[in-house]
Amino acid sequence: ASKKQEINCYGFYHTHTDESRSRRLQLGHDMYRSLKNHDFYVLFQPIMNPDTEKITAVEALLRWKHPELGIVSPGEFIPIAEGLGAILPLGEWVLQQACSFGADWINAECEPVRISVNVSIKQLLEGQVFVNKVRSILKYTNFPPELLQLEITETALLAKEGSIQVVLQNLSALGVQIAIDDFGTGYSSLSHLKSFPVHTLKIDRSFIHDIDVDDCSRAIAASLTGLARQLKIDVVAEGIETKMQADILTNLGCEGLQGFYFSYPSSAEQLKKQLSEGK
Ligand code: C2E
Ligand code: MG
Ligand code: MG
Ligand code: MG
Repeated sequence: ASKKQEINCYGFYHTHTDESRSRRLQLGHDMYRSLKNHDFYVLFQPIMNPDTEKITAVEALLRWKHPELGIVSPGEFIPIAEGLGAILPLGEWVLQQACSFGADWINAECEPVRISVNVSIKQLLEGQVFVNKVRSILKYTNFPPELLQLEITETALLAKEGSIQVVLQNLSALGVQIAIDDFGTGYSSLSHLKSFPVHTLKIDRSFIHDIDVDDCSRAIAASLTGLARQLKIDVVAEGIETKMQADILTNLGCEGLQGFYFSYPSSAEQLKKQLSEGK
């Protein structure tokens, strides 16, 4: 029998042992209880404007502190949640959290920042039900739709192109922005960009981490930013860890820079403090 390989939360390859299977079963079982018990929380990672060097947006990133197992990474639990359908209540909860914190920052007279929320293809496939959820969350949190951005991975988009197009158009009609996440990893024909109402491309970290040493990565980033500029789409580079990477991407004309070099994901309170100090 073939042994399927996967990458665990530490980035090592391992095989599907009974142990990893029982861990997956446990995580899948426990996530519903954890959602009720507030073991999930959302961190926000700043995205910087290279010109002003201020925070222009933040990305909401889901975290899980399992009561017995400790921190479980989204790389591990999101696929499980997607498989079980738990991503629907979880994803809705993240949206609620993001919009209510965002509204709170506005009330505290912070500089307005856009909030970017990752959305699973499973949520988009809910179609109008999902659009209605977004609309009602915006309404009762009183968060401006223009400040909400939804991140959809390129691979998800391409897998279900036909059924997703209308959903994205209806979300756009609410005033919400759409970003394509992990761009460059999905082998897409660039012409796909024409069929979707895309506001932002996020260049995947795999092209960023070696951009200062690899001509090929630099060429890809340069052509993506060039193309985006022609199409009037913003570019955010993610996974920036060094000043040299930041400088290269600034010179390529990226509208947003995100990565540990600028800031790790941080709590809503920390962010609020930073934003109210006008950073
Ligand atoms: P993503 O949307 O591409 O998010 C960016 C990931 O890169 C985050 O990992 C972030 O912590 C990490 N990152 C940011 N800057 C750097 C850097 O300079 N160096 C390195 N090495 N990493 C950096 P995280 O938080 O572990 O999330 C992993 C993935 O899990 C996300 O990738 C996203 O696809 C998914 N995810 C996270 N939260 C949610 C959520 O609420 N809903 C859904 N559907 N997916 C989520
Ligand atoms: Mg993302
Ligand atoms: Mg990404
Ligand atoms: Mg990525």
